[in-house]
Amino acid sequence: MILPRVAGHAAGLPGTELPAYVYDLTALAGHAAEVRAALPPETELYYAAKANPAPELLRALAPYVSGYEVSSGGELAHVRKAVPELPLAFGGPGKTEAELRLALDLGAERIHVESESELRLLAALAAALPGEAPVDVLLRVNLPVGTGTGTGTGAGPGDGHGDLAGAALAMGGRPSPFGLDPRRAEACLPLLRGTRLRLRGIHAHLASGLPAPALLAVAARVTAWARELDARHGLGLDEVNVGGGMAVDYARPHARFDWAAYGAGLAALAAAHPGYRLRIEPGRALAAHCGWYVTEVIDVRHSHGEAFAVVRGGTHHMRTPAAKGHDHPFTVLSVDTWERPWPRPAALDEPVTLSGQLCTPRDVLARAVPVAELRAGDRIAFAMAGAYAWNISHHEFLMHPAPSFHFLP
Ligand SMILES: *Cc1c(COP(=O)(O)O)cnc(C)c1O
Repeated sequence: MILPRVAGHAAGLPGTELPAYVYDLTALAGHAAEVRAALPPETELYYAAKANPAPELLRALAPYVSGYEVSSGGELAHVRKAVPELPLAFGGPGKTEAELRLALDLGAERIHVESESELRLLAALAAALPGEAPVDVLLRVNLPVGTGTGTGTGAGPGDGHGDLAGAALAMGGRPSPFGLDPRRAEACLPLLRGTRLRLRGIHAHLASGLPAPALLAVAARVTAWARELDARHGLGLDEVNVGGGMAVDYARPHARFDWAAYGAGLAALAAAHPGYRLRIEPGRALAAHCGWYVTEVIDVRHSHGEAFAVVRGGTHHMRTPAAKGHDHPFTVLSVDTWERPWPRPAALDEPVTLSGQLCTPRDVLARAVPVAELRAGDRIAFAMAGAYAWNISHHEFLMHPAPSFHFLP
Protein backbone atom coordinates (compact mmCIF):
# COMPACT_ATOMS: atom_id res chain seq x y z
CA MET A 1 0.00 0.00 0.00
CA ILE A 2 3.04 2.25 0.29
CA LEU A 3 5.93 2.22 -2.16
CA PRO A 4 9.29 1.67 -0.43
CA ARG A 5 10.77 4.95 -1.64
CA VAL A 6 7.72 6.85 -0.42
CA ALA A 7 7.92 5.07 2.95
CA GLY A 8 11.60 5.98 3.16
CA HIS A 9 10.89 9.61 2.39
CA ALA A 10 7.95 9.72 4.81
CA ALA A 11 10.01 8.18 7.62
CA GLY A 12 12.90 10.57 7.00
CA LEU A 13 10.91 13.80 7.04
CA PRO A 14 11.70 16.03 10.02
CA GLY A 15 8.75 16.32 12.37
CA THR A 16 8.39 19.99 11.49
CA GLU A 17 7.40 18.95 7.95
CA LEU A 18 4.39 16.95 9.12
CA PRO A 19 1.68 16.59 8.06
CA ALA A 20 2.95 16.21 4.53
CA TYR A 21 1.64 15.30 1.13
CA VAL A 22 4.12 13.10 -0.71
CA TYR A 23 3.62 12.47 -4.42
CA ASP A 24 5.57 9.92 -6.42
CA LEU A 25 5.83 11.42 -9.90
CA THR A 26 7.60 8.34 -11.27
CA ALA A 27 4.71 6.15 -10.15
CA LEU A 28 2.28 8.64 -11.67
CA ALA A 29 4.10 8.68 -15.00
CA GLY A 30 4.39 4.88 -15.00
CA HIS A 31 0.67 4.51 -14.40
CA ALA A 32 -0.20 7.10 -17.06
CA ALA A 33 2.04 5.27 -19.54
CA GLU A 34 0.18 2.02 -18.84
CA VAL A 35 -3.18 3.72 -19.27
CA ARG A 36 -2.05 5.32 -22.52
CA ALA A 37 -0.77 1.98 -23.82
CA ALA A 38 -4.07 0.25 -22.99
CA LEU A 39 -6.09 2.72 -25.06
CA PRO A 40 -6.46 2.60 -28.83
CA PRO A 41 -3.87 4.97 -30.38
CA GLU A 42 -6.52 7.25 -31.90
CA THR A 43 -8.39 7.68 -28.63
CA GLU A 44 -7.49 10.95 -26.94
CA LEU A 45 -6.68 10.88 -23.23
CA TYR A 46 -7.36 14.14 -21.39
CA TYR A 47 -6.66 14.59 -17.69
CA ALA A 48 -9.42 16.25 -15.63
CA ALA A 49 -7.37 18.86 -13.77
CA LYS A 50 -9.83 19.23 -10.90
CA ALA A 51 -8.74 15.85 -9.53
CA ASN A 52 -5.38 17.42 -8.66
CA PRO A 53 -4.13 20.56 -10.41
CA ALA A 54 -0.63 20.68 -8.86
CA PRO A 55 1.67 21.87 -11.68
CA GLU A 56 4.13 19.07 -10.88
CA LEU A 57 1.42 16.48 -11.61
CA LEU A 58 0.17 18.29 -14.70
CA ARG A 59 3.71 18.32 -16.10
CA ALA A 60 4.46 14.70 -15.15
CA LEU A 61 1.35 13.64 -17.09
CA ALA A 62 2.13 15.76 -20.15
CA PRO A 63 4.00 13.06 -22.14
CA TYR A 64 1.03 10.68 -21.85
CA VAL A 65 -2.01 12.88 -22.33
CA SER A 66 -3.44 14.69 -25.36
CA GLY A 67 -4.77 17.57 -23.28
CA TYR A 68 -6.50 18.65 -20.09
CA GLU A 69 -10.11 19.12 -19.11
CA VAL A 70 -10.61 22.28 -17.05
CA SER A 71 -13.79 23.31 -15.25
CA SER A 72 -13.31 26.95 -14.25
CA GLY A 73 -11.61 30.13 -15.32
CA GLY A 74 -9.10 29.53 -12.55
CA GLU A 75 -8.19 26.08 -13.83
CA LEU A 76 -8.10 27.39 -17.39
CA ALA A 77 -5.49 30.05 -16.61
CA HIS A 78 -3.54 27.78 -14.26
CA VAL A 79 -3.27 24.78 -16.60
CA ARG A 80 -2.51 26.95 -19.64
CA LYS A 81 0.42 28.40 -17.71
CA ALA A 82 1.66 25.05 -16.32
CA VAL A 83 1.52 23.15 -19.64
CA PRO A 84 1.16 25.75 -22.40
CA GLU A 85 1.87 23.27 -25.17
CA LEU A 86 -1.19 21.06 -24.72
CA PRO A 87 -4.85 21.70 -25.63
CA LEU A 88 -7.59 22.49 -23.12
CA ALA A 89 -11.24 21.51 -23.05
CA PHE A 90 -13.26 23.94 -20.94
CA GLY A 91 -16.42 22.60 -19.28
CA GLY A 92 -18.50 23.26 -16.19
CA PRO A 93 -22.16 23.78 -15.39
CA GLY A 94 -22.00 27.52 -14.57
CA LYS A 95 -19.60 29.45 -16.77
CA THR A 96 -19.70 33.19 -16.26
CA GLU A 97 -19.32 35.71 -19.05
CA ALA A 98 -15.86 36.56 -17.71
CA GLU A 99 -14.85 32.88 -17.82
CA LEU A 100 -16.12 32.44 -21.37
CA ARG A 101 -14.20 35.56 -22.40
CA LEU A 102 -11.08 34.14 -20.77
CA ALA A 103 -11.57 30.86 -22.65
CA LEU A 104 -11.74 32.79 -25.92
CA ASP A 105 -8.77 35.00 -25.00
CA LEU A 106 -6.63 32.00 -24.06
CA GLY A 107 -7.81 30.08 -27.12
CA ALA A 108 -9.24 27.07 -25.26
CA GLU A 109 -9.26 24.39 -27.95
CA ARG A 110 -12.72 23.07 -27.02
CA ILE A 111 -15.57 24.61 -25.07
CA HIS A 112 -18.23 22.25 -23.74
CA VAL A 113 -21.54 24.10 -23.96
CA GLU A 114 -24.10 23.14 -21.34
CA SER A 115 -27.22 25.14 -22.23
CA GLU A 116 -28.90 27.18 -24.95
CA SER A 117 -28.36 30.35 -22.97
CA GLU A 118 -24.65 29.61 -22.64
CA LEU A 119 -24.50 28.91 -26.37
CA ARG A 120 -26.08 32.27 -27.19
CA LEU A 121 -23.69 34.09 -24.88
CA LEU A 122 -20.64 32.32 -26.27
CA ALA A 123 -21.76 33.00 -29.84
CA ALA A 124 -22.15 36.70 -29.04
CA LEU A 125 -18.70 36.87 -27.43
CA ALA A 126 -17.12 34.94 -30.29
CA ALA A 127 -18.67 37.33 -32.83
CA ALA A 128 -16.60 40.15 -31.32
CA LEU A 129 -13.30 38.26 -31.70
CA PRO A 130 -10.79 39.54 -34.21
CA GLY A 131 -10.10 37.28 -37.19
CA GLU A 132 -12.20 34.59 -38.76
CA ALA A 133 -11.11 31.42 -36.97
CA PRO A 134 -13.96 29.25 -35.74
CA VAL A 135 -14.45 28.44 -32.05
CA ASP A 136 -14.75 24.67 -31.60
CA VAL A 137 -17.48 23.50 -29.27
CA LEU A 138 -19.03 20.27 -28.06
CA LEU A 139 -22.55 20.10 -26.70
CA ARG A 140 -22.68 18.44 -23.30
CA VAL A 141 -25.70 16.17 -23.19
CA ASN A 142 -27.42 14.40 -20.33
CA LEU A 143 -28.70 11.21 -21.92
CA PRO A 144 -31.26 8.98 -20.25
CA VAL A 145 -29.17 5.95 -19.36
CA GLY A 146 -30.32 5.58 -15.76
CA THR A 147 -32.68 2.65 -16.17
CA GLY A 148 -30.70 0.61 -18.68
CA THR A 149 -33.98 -0.36 -20.38
CA GLY A 150 -33.32 1.38 -23.65
CA THR A 151 -35.20 4.62 -23.11
CA GLY A 152 -34.48 7.49 -25.44
CA THR A 153 -33.00 7.32 -28.91
CA GLY A 154 -29.87 5.70 -30.17
CA ALA A 155 -29.80 2.43 -28.28
CA GLY A 156 -26.19 1.34 -28.62
CA PRO A 157 -24.45 -2.00 -28.38
CA GLY A 158 -24.28 -1.58 -24.62
CA ASP A 159 -28.01 -1.12 -24.31
CA GLY A 160 -29.37 -2.88 -21.27
CA HIS A 161 -26.16 -2.45 -19.31
CA GLY A 162 -26.20 1.33 -19.00
CA ASP A 163 -27.23 1.29 -15.39
CA LEU A 164 -25.65 4.06 -13.33
CA ALA A 165 -26.96 2.57 -10.09
CA GLY A 166 -23.48 1.54 -8.97
CA ALA A 167 -21.96 4.97 -9.57
CA ALA A 168 -20.46 6.97 -6.70
CA LEU A 169 -21.81 10.19 -8.23
CA ALA A 170 -24.31 10.57 -11.06
CA MET A 171 -24.15 13.81 -13.03
CA GLY A 172 -26.55 12.56 -15.68
CA GLY A 173 -29.02 9.89 -16.66
CA ARG A 174 -31.49 11.69 -14.39
CA PRO A 175 -32.53 15.28 -13.63
CA SER A 176 -29.36 17.33 -13.01
CA PRO A 177 -27.90 20.79 -13.64
CA PHE A 178 -25.27 19.26 -15.95
CA GLY A 179 -25.64 19.51 -19.69
CA LEU A 180 -28.54 19.49 -22.12
CA ASP A 181 -31.46 17.14 -22.37
CA PRO A 182 -31.40 15.42 -25.77
CA ARG A 183 -34.27 17.56 -27.10
CA ARG A 184 -32.64 20.77 -25.87
CA ALA A 185 -29.43 19.75 -27.63
CA GLU A 186 -31.40 19.53 -30.88
CA ALA A 187 -32.85 22.96 -30.16
CA CYS A 188 -29.28 24.32 -30.03
CA LEU A 189 -28.53 23.34 -33.61
CA PRO A 190 -30.36 26.24 -35.32
CA LEU A 191 -28.69 28.66 -32.88
CA LEU A 192 -25.29 27.69 -34.25
CA ARG A 193 -26.06 28.86 -37.77
CA GLY A 194 -24.31 32.03 -38.79
CA THR A 195 -22.10 32.08 -35.67
CA ARG A 196 -18.34 31.64 -35.25
CA LEU A 197 -19.04 28.48 -33.26
CA ARG A 198 -18.17 25.19 -34.96
CA LEU A 199 -19.91 22.15 -33.52
CA ARG A 200 -17.34 19.34 -33.47
CA GLY A 201 -19.28 16.78 -31.50
CA ILE A 202 -20.87 15.66 -28.27
CA HIS A 203 -19.61 15.55 -24.71
CA ALA A 204 -21.08 13.50 -21.88
CA HIS A 205 -19.80 12.86 -18.37
CA LEU A 206 -22.68 11.04 -16.79
CA ALA A 207 -21.27 9.36 -13.70
CA SER A 208 -18.22 8.84 -11.53
CA GLY A 209 -17.02 5.61 -10.01
CA LEU A 210 -18.11 3.12 -12.66
CA PRO A 211 -16.27 -0.09 -13.56
CA ALA A 212 -15.18 -0.65 -17.18
CA PRO A 213 -18.25 -2.57 -18.48
CA ALA A 214 -20.73 0.04 -17.21
CA LEU A 215 -18.59 2.89 -18.48
CA LEU A 216 -18.29 1.23 -21.90
CA ALA A 217 -22.05 0.82 -22.07
CA VAL A 218 -22.45 4.54 -21.39
CA ALA A 219 -19.80 5.39 -24.00
CA ALA A 220 -21.59 3.22 -26.56
CA ARG A 221 -24.88 4.91 -25.84
CA VAL A 222 -23.40 8.40 -26.11
CA THR A 223 -21.55 7.63 -29.34
CA ALA A 224 -24.60 6.02 -30.97
CA TRP A 225 -26.72 8.99 -29.94
CA ALA A 226 -24.17 11.47 -31.33
CA ARG A 227 -24.05 9.59 -34.61
CA GLU A 228 -27.83 9.53 -34.95
CA LEU A 229 -28.03 13.26 -34.26
CA ASP A 230 -25.28 13.81 -36.81
CA ALA A 231 -27.04 11.72 -39.46
CA ARG A 232 -30.44 13.29 -38.84
CA HIS A 233 -29.12 16.83 -39.25
CA GLY A 234 -26.12 16.32 -41.55
CA LEU A 235 -23.81 17.98 -39.04
CA GLY A 236 -20.49 16.42 -40.03
CA LEU A 237 -19.43 15.78 -36.44
CA ASP A 238 -16.08 14.12 -35.81
CA GLU A 239 -15.65 13.89 -32.01
CA VAL A 240 -17.27 12.24 -29.05
CA ASN A 241 -15.99 12.92 -25.54
CA VAL A 242 -17.36 10.19 -23.29
CA GLY A 243 -16.08 11.73 -20.05
CA GLY A 244 -14.23 10.41 -17.02
CA GLY A 245 -15.50 8.63 -13.94
CA MET A 246 -13.35 5.49 -13.99
CA ALA A 247 -13.81 3.70 -10.66
CA VAL A 248 -11.21 3.81 -7.90
CA ASP A 249 -11.70 1.30 -5.09
CA TYR A 250 -10.48 2.74 -1.77
CA ALA A 251 -11.06 -0.59 -0.05
CA ARG A 252 -8.53 -2.23 -2.40
CA PRO A 253 -5.51 0.07 -2.74
CA HIS A 254 -3.67 -2.37 -5.00
CA ALA A 255 -6.53 -2.71 -7.47
CA ARG A 256 -6.69 -0.57 -10.58
CA PHE A 257 -9.47 0.26 -13.00
CA ASP A 258 -9.51 -2.34 -15.79
CA TRP A 259 -7.89 -0.18 -18.45
CA ALA A 260 -7.19 -3.19 -20.69
CA ALA A 261 -10.89 -4.08 -20.91
CA TYR A 262 -11.86 -0.46 -21.27
CA GLY A 263 -9.31 0.13 -24.03
CA ALA A 264 -10.45 -2.97 -25.91
CA GLY A 265 -14.06 -1.81 -25.62
CA LEU A 266 -13.18 1.65 -26.90
CA ALA A 267 -11.33 0.11 -29.84
CA ALA A 268 -14.45 -1.88 -30.74
CA LEU A 269 -16.58 1.22 -30.33
CA ALA A 270 -14.29 3.28 -32.54
CA ALA A 271 -14.33 0.54 -35.18
CA ALA A 272 -18.15 0.57 -35.12
CA HIS A 273 -18.22 4.34 -35.64
CA PRO A 274 -15.56 5.25 -38.18
CA GLY A 275 -14.97 8.96 -38.58
CA TYR A 276 -15.46 9.75 -34.90
CA ARG A 277 -12.53 10.45 -32.63
CA LEU A 278 -13.19 9.26 -29.10
CA ARG A 279 -11.89 11.23 -26.14
CA ILE A 280 -11.90 10.38 -22.44
CA GLU A 281 -11.12 12.63 -19.48
CA PRO A 282 -10.37 10.69 -16.29
CA GLY A 283 -9.17 12.47 -13.17
CA ARG A 284 -9.34 10.27 -10.09
CA ALA A 285 -8.24 7.01 -11.72
CA LEU A 286 -5.09 8.66 -13.11
CA ALA A 287 -3.94 10.52 -10.01
CA ALA A 288 -5.40 8.91 -6.87
CA HIS A 289 -2.71 6.28 -6.40
CA CYS A 290 0.34 8.56 -6.69
CA GLY A 291 -0.17 10.53 -3.46
CA TRP A 292 0.14 9.90 0.30
CA TYR A 293 -0.88 12.04 3.23
CA VAL A 294 1.70 11.46 5.95
CA THR A 295 1.15 12.49 9.53
CA GLU A 296 1.93 11.39 13.07
CA VAL A 297 -0.08 10.21 16.03
CA ILE A 298 -0.34 12.90 18.71
CA ASP A 299 -2.14 10.77 21.26
CA VAL A 300 -3.88 7.45 21.72
CA ARG A 301 -6.76 7.26 24.15
CA HIS A 302 -9.55 4.91 25.04
CA SER A 303 -13.08 6.21 25.29
CA HIS A 304 -15.95 4.06 26.54
CA GLY A 305 -14.10 0.95 25.50
CA GLU A 306 -12.92 2.10 22.05
CA ALA A 307 -9.44 3.19 20.97
CA PHE A 308 -8.86 6.53 19.25
CA ALA A 309 -5.64 7.72 17.69
CA VAL A 310 -5.62 11.48 17.24
CA VAL A 311 -3.31 12.51 14.41
CA ARG A 312 -1.86 15.86 13.39
CA GLY A 313 -3.95 17.41 10.64
CA GLY A 314 -7.19 15.74 9.65
CA THR A 315 -10.02 16.14 7.20
CA HIS A 316 -9.23 19.85 6.66
CA HIS A 317 -6.14 18.52 4.85
CA MET A 318 -7.68 15.37 3.42
CA ARG A 319 -11.43 15.53 3.21
CA THR A 320 -11.64 12.45 0.98
CA PRO A 321 -12.86 9.96 3.63
CA ALA A 322 -15.43 12.45 4.95
CA ALA A 323 -16.61 13.28 1.44
CA LYS A 324 -16.89 9.67 0.36
CA GLY A 325 -17.85 8.15 3.70
CA HIS A 326 -15.12 5.52 3.70
CA ASP A 327 -12.24 4.39 5.90
CA HIS A 328 -9.15 5.74 4.23
CA PRO A 329 -6.47 3.08 3.66
CA PHE A 330 -3.26 3.65 5.62
CA THR A 331 0.04 2.12 6.65
CA VAL A 332 1.60 2.55 10.09
CA LEU A 333 5.24 3.66 9.92
CA SER A 334 6.53 2.69 13.36
CA VAL A 335 8.77 5.17 15.17
CA ASP A 336 10.67 3.46 17.92
CA THR A 337 11.92 6.43 19.87
CA TRP A 338 9.81 7.88 22.67
CA GLU A 339 11.63 10.59 24.54
CA ARG A 340 9.03 11.65 27.07
CA PRO A 341 9.53 10.41 30.64
CA TRP A 342 5.99 9.01 30.94
CA PRO A 343 4.50 5.85 29.41
CA ARG A 344 3.78 5.91 25.70
CA PRO A 345 0.03 5.96 24.86
CA ALA A 346 -0.75 2.95 22.67
CA ALA A 347 -3.39 0.70 21.20
CA LEU A 348 -2.51 -2.98 20.97
CA ASP A 349 -4.18 -5.53 18.76
CA GLU A 350 -7.51 -3.79 18.62
CA PRO A 351 -9.69 -1.66 16.34
CA VAL A 352 -8.62 2.00 16.31
CA THR A 353 -10.40 5.07 15.00
CA LEU A 354 -8.04 7.60 13.44
CA SER A 355 -9.31 11.12 13.98
CA GLY A 356 -7.84 14.55 13.34
CA GLN A 357 -7.35 17.80 15.22
CA LEU A 358 -10.70 19.40 14.39
CA CYS A 359 -13.29 19.91 17.11
CA THR A 360 -15.96 17.95 15.33
CA PRO A 361 -16.90 14.25 15.49
CA ARG A 362 -16.82 14.25 11.68
CA ASP A 363 -13.06 14.64 11.59
CA VAL A 364 -12.52 10.91 11.14
CA LEU A 365 -10.07 9.47 8.62
CA ALA A 366 -10.69 5.77 9.32
CA ARG A 367 -13.06 4.14 11.78
CA ALA A 368 -12.44 1.09 14.00
CA VAL A 369 -9.70 -0.38 11.82
CA PRO A 370 -7.84 -3.31 13.45
CA VAL A 371 -4.15 -2.57 14.08
CA ALA A 372 -1.43 -4.70 15.65
CA GLU A 373 0.12 -1.73 17.41
CA LEU A 374 -0.29 2.02 17.19
CA ARG A 375 1.48 4.41 19.54
CA ALA A 376 1.80 8.13 20.05
CA GLY A 377 4.68 9.29 17.89
CA ASP A 378 4.15 6.64 15.19
CA ARG A 379 3.70 7.96 11.68
CA ILE A 380 0.76 7.13 9.46
CA ALA A 381 0.82 7.22 5.67
CA PHE A 382 -2.65 7.45 4.15
CA ALA A 383 -2.56 6.01 0.63
CA MET A 384 -4.62 7.03 -2.41
CA ALA A 385 -4.32 10.71 -1.59
CA GLY A 386 -3.29 11.84 -5.07
CA ALA A 387 -6.75 12.99 -6.21
CA TYR A 388 -9.61 14.91 -4.61
CA ALA A 389 -7.68 15.15 -1.36
CA TRP A 390 -5.89 18.41 -0.44
CA ASN A 391 -7.69 20.45 -3.12
CA ILE A 392 -11.22 19.53 -2.00
CA SER A 393 -10.53 20.16 1.70
CA HIS A 394 -11.66 23.02 3.96
CA HIS A 395 -8.16 24.28 4.77
CA GLU A 396 -9.08 27.34 6.81
CA PHE A 397 -11.23 25.63 9.40
CA LEU A 398 -9.57 26.02 12.85
CA MET A 399 -6.46 27.73 11.46
CA HIS A 400 -4.13 24.78 11.75
CA PRO A 401 -0.97 25.07 9.63
CA ALA A 402 -1.00 23.74 6.08
CA PRO A 403 0.86 20.50 5.30
CA SER A 404 4.17 20.51 3.47
CA PHE A 405 4.32 19.19 -0.10
CA HIS A 406 6.90 16.86 -1.58
CA PHE A 407 7.11 15.74 -5.18
CA LEU A 408 9.45 12.79 -5.62
CA PRO A 409 10.85 12.96 -9.16
C1 LIG B 1 -14.86 15.70 -12.66
C2 LIG B 1 -15.00 15.50 -14.12
C3 LIG B 1 -14.23 14.55 -14.78
C4 LIG B 1 -13.29 13.61 -14.04
O1 LIG B 1 -14.01 12.72 -13.25
P1 LIG B 1 -13.22 11.55 -12.48
O2 LIG B 1 -14.29 10.86 -11.70
O3 LIG B 1 -12.21 12.21 -11.63
O4 LIG B 1 -12.60 10.67 -13.51
C5 LIG B 1 -14.34 14.45 -16.14
N1 LIG B 1 -15.19 15.24 -16.83
C6 LIG B 1 -15.96 16.17 -16.24
C7 LIG B 1 -16.86 17.00 -17.05
C8 LIG B 1 -15.89 16.32 -14.86
O5 LIG B 1 -16.68 17.23 -14.27
